[in-house]
Parts: sequence; C-alpha cells; structure tokens
Amino acid sequence: MEEYVAGLKNKFGYSDELSNFLNQLIPNLIKYYGEEYKDIIFSALSNCEIHFQDKEEDPKTFLNSYFDSNKEWEMPDLGGAFYHNEIKLKDNQVIAKPIIYLKRVYFGMYKPFDFNDDKQVNTLIHEICHLIKGYGKIKIENGKIIDSTGLMRDTYSYSQETGVVEEKNDMVGIEEALNDVETAQILEMMTGRKQEVAGYKAAGYSATRLLQHSDIAKVIRISQFRGDDSWIQYLGEEQSKKLIENFDVLVNAMYVSFKDINTKEKREAFYQKMGLAQDVIDDFVDNYCSKEDLEAFIQSLAAADKKTIEIIQQMSVVNQNCEEVFSSIMR
Ligand SMILES: [Zn+2]
Repeated sequence: MEEYVAGLKNKFGYSDELSNFLNQLIPNLIKYYGEEYKDIIFSALSNCEIHFQDKEEDPKTFLNSYFDSNKEWEMPDLGGAFYHNEIKLKDNQVIAKPIIYLKRVYFGMYKPFDFNDDKQVNTLIHEICHLIKGYGKIKIENGKIIDSTGLMRDTYSYSQETGVVEEKNDMVGIEEALNDVETAQILEMMTGRKQEVAGYKAAGYSATRLLQHSDIAKVIRISQFRGDDSWIQYLGEEQSKKLIENFDVLVNAMYVSFKDINTKEKREAFYQKMGLAQDVIDDFVDNYCSKEDLEAFIQSLAAADKKTIEIIQQMSVVNQNCEEVFSSIMR
C-alpha cells in the first residue's frame, strides 16, 4: 500500500497529508466495496488527479488548461468539490480524462483543506467514490457515447464537426443518494466515529433504508461497478422507475434556492412534493419482498456477460471502425 501511494505522490505531486490520508482510506475502500474491486480502485486512483484549488487559482482557467479545452464551466458558489470525466474525440478515438477538483476559495477567501475535519473529508471521499464507480465505463451504444458512474448515466452525442456534446444525465438522484450513504459508512469505518449522511439528507435516509434489503444492496453494487442495468432487470422497469423518479425529486430539492420558494404556498407545495417522494420510496421499502432467486439471477447475469463479450469480439472483427473505438476505450 505504502509503495502504491508513494507512486501516486510522485506522479501527481501529492502532499504528505493527502498521501497519509490515502494510505488510510484505500484499505477501507477495499474492505467496504470488496476485494473483487481492488484492481478497479487502484487503477481509478492512478488514473485521476486529486486537485486542491490554489490561493490565486481561477477554476475555469485551470480546468480549461488542464483539459486543453475552452468551455464555460458551471461552478457552484458553495459546492465544495466535484468529480469530472472530460470526454473528447481525438484522431477518431474516444479519450477520457478525469479529475477530482476541490474548491478552496469561497467568496474570495482561501481556506486550506483540513484532513482532520470530518465534513471536509466526507466531501473528498464522496468524490473518490464517484471516481471509483466511474472508472473504465465508457461505451458506445447506438452511436452515442455512454459514460456512467455507479448507476448514474451520462449520454453524449459526437461527430467530427461538433465534437462531444453532453445530451442528458440519468439516474443522478438515486446514485447521489447511494454515494452519500457509502461515503458516510466508509468514513465511519475509517474514523470509528458515527457519521451522518451529509449531502442529500432526505435522499440519504431513504437510500439507507433501501439498502437494508440485502438482495437489493447486492444487485445495486453489481450494477454500480459494471455500469449496467442489472438492478433494473432485477426489480423490474416499473419499480425501478418509481425509485429513480422519486430519488431525483429528493436530490433536486437540495438545489432549490430560497428565492424560488419565497411564499408560504410555494414552500408548502415544495415540502408536499418532497414528502410524497419520500412516501413512495418508504412504501416501496416497507412492502418489498425479497426475491428468493437472487443467486440464480446473478448466475444468469454472469452467463449473459460472457455472451456480450463474445458478441463484442465478433463485432470487432466485422466492423473495423468499431474495433478502433473499442480498443481505444479499453486502455
Ligand atoms: Zn456527488
């Protein structure tokens, strides 16, 4: 472990503090997500820089130079950090470059990152969890680039003229809620102190309850790391749609500003909408009956997986262009 982290320190110029933190965090990540994801965890962290904003650094200028791009970045005033995977076309190949960016300047005031502050550490782990579940997930489906992190799915269109254009994000709410729960549990393992779900509180509460059904927890974890929809197949389109929609309501509620709910009526409508979303999820959790055949279901997934790999191999022989894209993605 020490040797691996020393490699990261060397590669990205990490501070002693960040290196010490990673030395403590990584074994807990492996313990939490499972030995089977160890290689993904190592590769993800080797492939992505964790960057703390400098005192004089303008985030937009930094990101454009980091990605060699010229974009308008949306930078939240208060948000502490984000994980971003920049996708580009270069010489007919799809190239992805990730970053974890931690904002340190708020309203002109610089605040160094404090590794002893559980709240700040929670933010960092949250982004690392996104990163791990987003590693190596890019695929081409029906002429679109699909990138996922956990259950969350980003769809991009692409052409030589326009480059890569983001079209939509799906399943943001449920993944954010799950990610929050995972983060709190990992931080708890690491510190031995009880941790609260910090970011999306209402959604986090519902996600914690959802994960108490161990078969759901298991199938969700598989989907998060495969970037597939096994969990939707398992729960059924209708039930999973219910969860997706209502988690979106709960998570989006965090981005509603006070000026949008500045009257009593608006506030009431807002809380009613949130309450209803929470009720639907609670109802699902309370009335859910575990399917007894989870193991059989997972076995059938493994078989289906082998099939998919065969199909991809056949495709790459038939279609030279496809093969090029795939080989570049696999790296
Ligand atoms: Zn997040």
